[in-house]
Amino acid sequence: MTTPAPPAKHWLIAEKRQPLPPPGKGHKPLRKGVHLAGFLVFLLLPFTNLMRIDIPHQRCFFAGFEILISEFSILFFAMMFLMFVVAAMAIVYGRIYCSYMCPQMIFSEWSTSVEAWAARLAQKAVSGAGARKVLGKGLFLAVLAVASVILAFIFTSYFIEPRDLLGRLLHADLVTVGGITGATVTILTFLDLTLVKQKFCTTICPYGYIQGFLQDKQSLLVMYQDETNACIDCKKCVRVCEMGIDIRNGPFQIECVHCGDCIDACDEVLGKLGHPGLIHYSWGGAKAAAAPEPWYRRWGFRDAKRLVILLVMICYLSALVLTLALRKPVLMTLTPDRTVLFQVMPDGRVANKVLMSLANRSPRAVDIKVWVEGLPGATLSLEKNPLTLGPGESVERTFDILAAPWDGAQEMNPIRVVIQSSDRNASDVAEFNFFMPPKRK
Ligand code: SF4
Ligand code: SF4
Repeated sequence: MTTPAPPAKHWLIAEKRQPLPPPGKGHKPLRKGVHLAGFLVFLLLPFTNLMRIDIPHQRCFFAGFEILISEFSILFFAMMFLMFVVAAMAIVYGRIYCSYMCPQMIFSEWSTSVEAWAARLAQKAVSGAGARKVLGKGLFLAVLAVASVILAFIFTSYFIEPRDLLGRLLHADLVTVGGITGATVTILTFLDLTLVKQKFCTTICPYGYIQGFLQDKQSLLVMYQDETNACIDCKKCVRVCEMGIDIRNGPFQIECVHCGDCIDACDEVLGKLGHPGLIHYSWGGAKAAAAPEPWYRRWGFRDAKRLVILLVMICYLSALVLTLALRKPVLMTLTPDRTVLFQVMPDGRVANKVLMSLANRSPRAVDIKVWVEGLPGATLSLEKNPLTLGPGESVERTFDILAAPWDGAQEMNPIRVVIQSSDRNASDVAEFNFFMPPKRK
């Protein structure tokens, strides 16, 4: 009687050896490339007016447009669009934003690599454990102190005009709100990048918790799947995890930011043994499809809910583009003031009051001129005409239209009041009646 062969429990016996993964492949190089691109965007955005809020001057800059805080519709559509982008990212791609694009993660990982670099340098430079520790720590803190000033400057530039902020920094301004804000952000950045780092993601940051509510059965996850009992328990996936978790305990751990470092680690370890890794990205925990899936499923559009979200995002984006395209650089309105229909002045002329409101939403000063048509010899009681309006300036004025009675004047005389900017980019015409006293019979 022949003894039956033991079941092929281990993949080393059961499967053909796989070729080693090519060097430099994996998720980490891609992630580091996105980090660099993200850092450059973070660095340059405040200097380009593509996205910035100027708190001292109460305006926002978006896609090159200068928008006043009072322009509610534009701000509403921009906020709704960005909110849907963040929510859609969480629903479709899980916490990919956290690991690939979040500044907190980018700078926390950078701080960890600076700490390791400083320790290596100290190791080479001096002898003695104590001296190495002091030198390594000192170097790390010195680099982080300089970096904190630069990062805080960039961050604060999103809210205070960069040249204005630089002036405050050079004068060591610790008196004005802007200066105090810059100094506070510098200290917080330093403490964050030296002490808190990724702990921020698992304790304070609400996005991770919100993501837990938003994700569903089709969201992207990082999954450990070991159906052939192939794990050699090398724990490399645990050692590389910056969030300090073991992905083998399940894909729904709140700390997991879906960075994919554990995937690379397992691919590398098991790849050397000729076997595919046991950890991978997975849509809702499903196994990888045998046949290639259509592009829209690979991009995450896996059910009607995602299409609805995409449609809502497109609607908000379209509304935003439309409101920006229809936006008038100078707002002008003229309304007749009918609290008193007319007033007879001591010199016999008749006055009708008009309320004028102007808002210059352009980045340049504009001259605004007002005149009346259809009223012979009419004058306006404006101190200045044209009136110069600075960038972002708004004014409201009540003025009189004055006219002496003329032959053929009626009790109600249709007139046109025209208001026009000097560059002729904005104008408004108000048509109403000029009231005269009733004629005595
Ligand atoms: S478990 Fe893996 S994917 Fe999740 S945070 Fe850790 S290394 Fe990144
Ligand atoms: S790296 Fe792979 S083989 Fe090693 S412990 Fe993690 S899952 Fe197991």
